[in-house]
Amino acid sequence: MRVPALKLTEGDAIRPLHPAPSVRVRTAGLREWVAPGDRVAAGDLIAESPEGERFGRRRHSPYDGVVIPAKRSGEIQIVGRPREQLPAPHREPATLSPHAVVAAVRDAGIEGMGGGVFPTWVKLSPGRPVECVIVNGCESEPYLACDRRVLAEFRGDVECGMRLAMRAVGADRGVIVHDDEGYPGGYERFLVRQVLGREVPPGGRPADAGAIVINVQTARAIHQALCLGRPLLDRVVTVDGGAVRRRGNFTVPLGTELGHILACASADLELAAAIVAGGPMMGVESPLDAVVEPGTGGVLALTREEIRRPADNPCIRCGDCLEACPVGLSARHLILRPAAALSRCMECGMCQYVCPSDRSLVALLRRAKEALR
Ligand code: SF4
Ligand code: SF4
Repeated sequence: MRVPALKLTEGDAIRPLHPAPSVRVRTAGLREWVAPGDRVAAGDLIAESPEGERFGRRRHSPYDGVVIPAKRSGEIQIVGRPREQLPAPHREPATLSPHAVVAAVRDAGIEGMGGGVFPTWVKLSPGRPVECVIVNGCESEPYLACDRRVLAEFRGDVECGMRLAMRAVGADRGVIVHDDEGYPGGYERFLVRQVLGREVPPGGRPADAGAIVINVQTARAIHQALCLGRPLLDRVVTVDGGAVRRRGNFTVPLGTELGHILACASADLELAAAIVAGGPMMGVESPLDAVVEPGTGGVLALTREEIRRPADNPCIRCGDCLEACPVGLSARHLILRPAAALSRCMECGMCQYVCPSDRSLVALLRRAKEALR
């Protein structure tokens, strides 16, 4: 079973977004290097993980501007404007060692842009031989088309990022995968099986089967970091939903508020029953002052007709959840009796999508996973 794609913006070229007056960069758990009143340039390092942290992260200023007191704690707020051109790089990518590629990706603050938000340098340090880098261009979530546009308009950048990732992990093969089969295609385990014909072991990672999987925009960000000396400052986002009048794909500085993006897209907020950061299946219903993060592929303003609120009616034991699950799990049984098989649950929401009793199955599955820990 597949969910309809509804990719109405797939043919819309990427456009720049009119910049917001300020951006808010999340810095929770990081050391901040700037304070209110400081001037910053786009690309300046403004926060990073404490030294020695295993999954170290870095944040750079998306704007040329001035730091002001942040609206919320755990954020740096900058008033100013983005800058298209950054200073020229001092590196020649062709001469970089695998270690230097990983270090440059870490310094650029690149995180998984498919929604995983895991530091990419950690993924590029698998600690075991990897034969293939798979670039995931499936983007199966309904509405979202930003990765497809990046592939259509910047394929050379994506291929360059893939080759750099291959060098980092010592892989001799790279593949860009994009299928049109609809949600829930594109899960890492499915891609590894499709490309290498092997299964990722239960509880394991793609590297355990000889592959790493990175998103299309992550690959492009690797190219930008290595070849243009540009840290992660923005991403392409799909803006769509029944309440949006000017839907499309926009380049958006990280830290831009969803409300600003929807205003630029002439969204009718009176019509919107839910604002979602991400896609409708795995995205998160969010307030208008939530901000775009590296993994935010979509900003949706959905009407009442486009959403289905869980009603949590009693289970009628129809078995539809088992039939719809792409990895063969029975949500009904796992919620009643949490078991080790829950580790295979990807929280894709297919069981909830088909449940005739409109049960909050994903939330219940998450709770069952916690009960097992
Ligand atoms: S689909 Fe819903 S109603 Fe049917 S068995 Fe699963 S949880 Fe119960
Ligand atoms: S959320 Fe989990 S149990 Fe439900 S369909 Fe997806 S993988 Fe299966």
